[in-house]
Amino acid sequence: MNVADSSAITNELVSYGLIESAISEDADIIIINTCTVRDHAEKLALTEAGKFKAWRKAKKERRLVLIGCAAERLGEGVKKSFPFIDLVIGSKKIEEVPAIIAGTFKLQIADFKLTKENDDSCGQTNNNATSYQPSAPGGEKVSPAEVSAYVNIMRGCNNFCSYCIVPYVRGAEVSIPAAGIIAEIETLVGNGTKEVTLLGQNVNSYHYQGLDFAGLLEKVNGIDGLLRIRYMTNHPKDINERIIGAIARLPKACNHIHLPMQSGSDRVLRLMNRQYTTAQYMDIVRKIKATIPGVSVTSDVLIGFPEETERDFQETYDLVEKAGFDFCYVFRFSARKGTAAYALGDRVGKEEKKARHIKMLSLTNRIASESNKRFIGRTVEVLAERMEGPRMLGKTSDNGAVVFLCNESLLGKIVKVRILETKVHSLIGEIVL
Ligand code: SF4
Repeated sequence: MNVADSSAITNELVSYGLIESAISEDADIIIINTCTVRDHAEKLALTEAGKFKAWRKAKKERRLVLIGCAAERLGEGVKKSFPFIDLVIGSKKIEEVPAIIAGTFKLQIADFKLTKENDDSCGQTNNNATSYQPSAPGGEKVSPAEVSAYVNIMRGCNNFCSYCIVPYVRGAEVSIPAAGIIAEIETLVGNGTKEVTLLGQNVNSYHYQGLDFAGLLEKVNGIDGLLRIRYMTNHPKDINERIIGAIARLPKACNHIHLPMQSGSDRVLRLMNRQYTTAQYMDIVRKIKATIPGVSVTSDVLIGFPEETERDFQETYDLVEKAGFDFCYVFRFSARKGTAAYALGDRVGKEEKKARHIKMLSLTNRIASESNKRFIGRTVEVLAERMEGPRMLGKTSDNGAVVFLCNESLLGKIVKVRILETKVHSLIGEIVL
């Protein structure tokens, strides 16, 4: 979501006439978009901010801005340890970032151009830095179109899973009006985007003036020029037959559902306040697989929750093994101050948590490796997303990450690729002419 937020902020500043460039040394303002979902992500964000201390001090007119979830949690207090940060804007005001920056620094916006760096995507832990530098008046837009782009459809969350800080720092769930979402996607498609990922903490509970998530998918599916739609994250208590049916029916909806399970122990699920049981979870997985031919189901599990016993962990391990996932991300519990789980302490112990994490990772890597073998010898349709040297990277509708040799002319096209070799996290193929 931070990547989508950074793009939206960039686009708004670009729409004012600012121009993106890549050199922080020339920038007047650097914006660091932060995450606080895990303690580690927050520390990384602050480390990133610290790297710009010398940059900020080198010229008195420079400004350093901290935005996002960690900025929301830390507030103005962060300036005590980081006095070189000029402005702190929390995630609840993310949509106002360009206006606040302009107002606070009294910029002559038309005389500035935008530079952006470190916009790496790593889910909930990414930090993005965006910087701005003076440009010639009437500066041109330089952000290249991305073949695959993220689009926020909601903000906040009402679920209050006991380990999660998101409802506190991002606020209550709000669905973005469908007309705005459609307009944003049409603009992206007009600029060359071929695939969008609809983002929300719980996209299945999208609801705007009678339009639910299935209805939104239907509308997005009707956008000319868009080839594929992805969506995340789904919530097991809210995904329903209507949504599953829409994903099965709509040709642009990708055959991939990411459905975080978090634990295979009903006792731990209750303590996590996840609001479903393992039986209900597995029932949904069966419905998805029965309704959507060839669907890929992936998941998340959280290891080392404070009350997780060896038996709870084993139940999670067993369920991951039998659920039929194509991949499962493994996260280690990180106590976040202010959440219900924080009060439970950290009873599992660092070493035990690490051991469980390693054991689960070994299982999930085996599962991914076995799942990828289904592709061997098959010719699959891949959206060619980006070049890395002479290699093209792209994805199948059912989430296979494919690497193949080709030239740039195929960027943004769906190409046929025969899979020759599989690895744990990728598929190696060759173009079929
Ligand atoms: S659904 Fe739970 S884990 Fe996901 S953002 Fe909301 S509170 Fe956090």
